[in-house]
Amino acid sequence: MTQKIAVYPGSFDPITNGHLDIIRRGLSIFDHVVIAVAKASTKGGLFTPDERVAMIKDVVGESSQITVDTFDGLLINYVKKKGANVILRGLRAVSDFEYEFQLAQMNHTIEESIETLFMMTSVDYGYLRSSIVKEVAALGGPVDAYVPPLVAKALVDKLQHVKKQS
Ligand code: ADP
Repeated sequence: MTQKIAVYPGSFDPITNGHLDIIRRGLSIFDHVVIAVAKASTKGGLFTPDERVAMIKDVVGESSQITVDTFDGLLINYVKKKGANVILRGLRAVSDFEYEFQLAQMNHTIEESIETLFMMTSVDYGYLRSSIVKEVAALGGPVDAYVPPLVAKALVDKLQHVKKQS
């Protein structure tokens, strides 16, 4: 039987409990989820793509159902290369809709056989995004409710390092 594989792409700068919730739920539908960290992001990252991958691997642990990787270039090409035909994305409050809608339509125009599947955010994570977590951490606030402990620690370390350099 062919495996049902989904690619879950994003910046993951850093991974949050909201992302982890989508991954966990995705695994109840798919045999395998490829977490794909975008190397080229318009958002400009705090962590390097390799640091993000290492963090995600630490958080999700060893599992035959999960691959963590980076990708560059056209997402559709990467999805095909991975033998997947589904792009998994999460949807938060209304603000995500317009962007995700455009992205999904664009990808579907490029490759009709690849579908984007959206999962509604869970109630607890509706307003959780990496950028807010970074802002709170930069201001010295607690982020333990939003990210796993090792990510909270990595944030503190990274922000201290960045501060020293500036
Ligand atoms: P991108 O830069 O591609 O938006 P993100 O790392 O911000 O990447 O998010 C990756 C995916 O995870 C997106 O589909 C985003 O909507 C989804 N996502 C992020 N945070 C949450 C959350 N709290 N609940 C549900 N989905 C989320």
